[in-house]
Amino acid sequence: MPGRVKILNISYIQEKKCVILIIKDHLSYQNNVHSLKSQIYDFFIYLYLKKMVTNGKCSYCLSSFSGSTMGKHLLSCESRQGFFKEFKETTSSAKTTGNKIKKVDEVTYYLLRVTSPEYPEYWLYIDLSEDLTLFNLDSFLRDTWLECCGHLSSFIVMEETYDSQIDKLADNDSKSMRIKLKELLLQKDMNIGYTYDYGSSTLLDIKVVSSHRVITTKNRNKLIKISARNDEIDYKCFDCKKEKATEICTICIYEKTGGRRQSSFCKSCVTEHECGEEMTSPIVNSPRSGICGYTG
Ligand SMILES: [Zn+2]
Ligand SMILES: [Zn+2]
Ligand SMILES: [Zn+2]
Ligand SMILES: [Zn+2]
Repeated sequence: MPGRVKILNISYIQEKKCVILIIKDHLSYQNNVHSLKSQIYDFFIYLYLKKMVTNGKCSYCLSSFSGSTMGKHLLSCESRQGFFKEFKETTSSAKTTGNKIKKVDEVTYYLLRVTSPEYPEYWLYIDLSEDLTLFNLDSFLRDTWLECCGHLSSFIVMEETYDSQIDKLADNDSKSMRIKLKELLLQKDMNIGYTYDYGSSTLLDIKVVSSHRVITTKNRNKLIKISARNDEIDYKCFDCKKEKATEICTICIYEKTGGRRQSSFCKSCVTEHECGEEMTSPIVNSPRSGICGYTG
């Protein structure tokens, strides 16, 4: 089997629709046309993945939509509207049954869209109440997508930084995450930045899609739930190009141009992988898959 051509750099000039390659040894190019072709192919797959459109299911009505159209669907989803309407009905029946009158409250619920700028194929929509704190949202994101070994994290809201841990000795203005969302005065279309782990960081963009007020009982003011998330992404094994990939190499993901696609292997090919099987992690449905040994 011919060795792979060493591509030192590869770039795509979108306006001219051409690819520029810088190859280490032009003589080996003659013998490795196939290898070169496959690397160019991988590069285009990589570009495609960068803009990859993934579908996901609405957790209220189970219909499928792409990440960008899901927000619009959720705003008009009858099952979701029914879910919030039930909050009101519980309240009015609690009021009329006499004896135990539950305290009613008016709560604002936000619909947030969470995406990874680096891996936009992963996305989440979250419904949550204004009485929750940034700390609650941080824990939720860690449980759903991120937590590997208790790294630090932070939110940036309106240019203010909110840290998971405050260093009292450090000379900075960052604030604690124990602040309720209602105190942040979130508005529709507002963006919140989020970083998990300052070493092998996973960055997230959080956007306020909408907010609505509901008259409800006190015990519904701690709501936080996934309204929709992207379906599991089907990676093919990079070696055999046949089997479904189940393992990802935590070294290749940083070193290969093809990112996840080029670092994903099936159960049988992974045993032969050059970096060693012990350097691989199971593939999970998260932008942190393959990073810092995250296993879901
Ligand atoms: Zn729906
Ligand atoms: Zn970690
Ligand atoms: Zn394979
Ligand atoms: Zn590897």
